[in-house]
This record gives sequence, structure tokens and C-alpha cells, in this order.
Amino acid sequence: MKQETIDRLKSTVRNIPDFPIKGIQFKDLTTTLKDPEALALIADELTALYADKGVTKVAGIESRGFIGGAILAARLGAGFVPVRKPGKLPATTLKKSYNKEYGVDTIEVHQDAITGDDIVLLHDDLLATGGTMKAAIELINEMHPKKVYVNFICELDDLHGRDMFPADIEVTSLFSF
Ligand code: AMP
Repeated sequence: MKQETIDRLKSTVRNIPDFPIKGIQFKDLTTTLKDPEALALIADELTALYADKGVTKVAGIESRGFIGGAILAARLGAGFVPVRKPGKLPATTLKKSYNKEYGVDTIEVHQDAITGDDIVLLHDDLLATGGTMKAAIELINEMHPKKVYVNFICELDDLHGRDMFPADIEVTSLFSF
């Protein structure tokens, strides 16, 4: 991606200090999404990254990963799979619990959402510590897809979240702070 495009996208992100708790610099992407040009750039750039990878399913992580994930799925001609918080999905699910800074969280996916023939692109809006995506990778791998890719719109470099993921998984983000 051109540096000019990266700078343009980064300029649309709003930093909110001390949200949701003291000490967190929250990167608010709603200001990116409401900017028509930035939204179109994100759709185009994400599509360009994965256009030739044979992706059959995009799995988006609740809830901010649903936005880019669904756009990307439609653009790639792939299906969309929601990875959700507990108790939201109606049919039989697979679950994965993982440790957060305070307490334990769980994510779920429908057990028939992905098959061994799928090439899966896991998508979320932002990579922070990587805990959520690590759990999502493990969850998706229980369905034994052919391949898993991981993508974010934005990555927080200082937290080194991508070090949490298996070394053989390709990870991309459009821009970082
Ligand atoms: P993590 O598991 O730490 O990588 O982050 C989980 C989710 O929390 C990400 O999908 C983000 O949507 C959100 N998140 C965490 N930290 C931030 C932050 N500093 N700014 C914006 N969103 C964040």
C-alpha cells in the first residue's frame, strides 16, 4: 500500500485516552468507517491483499470484526462466518475459552461453519495483545480447514500481539501505531 494511503487512513483514527479503563489508548475506528473515502480504501486494500489466495470463508470476530469481515467476504466471493461471544449462536457450536487481563473470555462458532475444504481468512478490526485472535485461530483449526490467514485493519506494534500466533500463519494489517 502507498505511504500516502497509509497516512490517509491513520489520520482518520481517533485516539481516546483512558477508554474503557485508565491507561488504555483506545483506537476508535468509527471515525474511519464514517469517512466514505477511507471505507472504500479499506475495502479495496483488504481485497487486494487476499484476491489471489483462494479464500472461501471470511471469519469475523464479534463485533467490530463483522464490519470489515463481511465487506471482505462479499468482495472476495467468499462466505462470512461470525465468531461470537457465548450464547449468541443458535445452532450447535464449538467453544474456546482464553485468559484476558482480568478473568476469562469465551468465543464460539457454529460447528458446521467451516469444512476441511475451506481456506479461511480470520479478520478483526484491531490487533492489541492478540489473545482473542489466538483463541479464534485455535477454534477455527478444530474444524481442520486447508489453510488459515489472519488479518487486521490496524495493529498496535508495541504490544507484539502477532508473536502469540503460530509461526506458519501469515498475518497482515493495513496500518499500525
Ligand atoms: P486483543 O485480544 O488484546 O488483541 O484485543 C481484543 C479486541 O479488543 C480487539 O479486537 C479490538 O477490537 C479491541 N481492542 C483492544 N485494545 C484496543 C485498543 N487499544 N483500541 C481499540 N480497540 C482495542
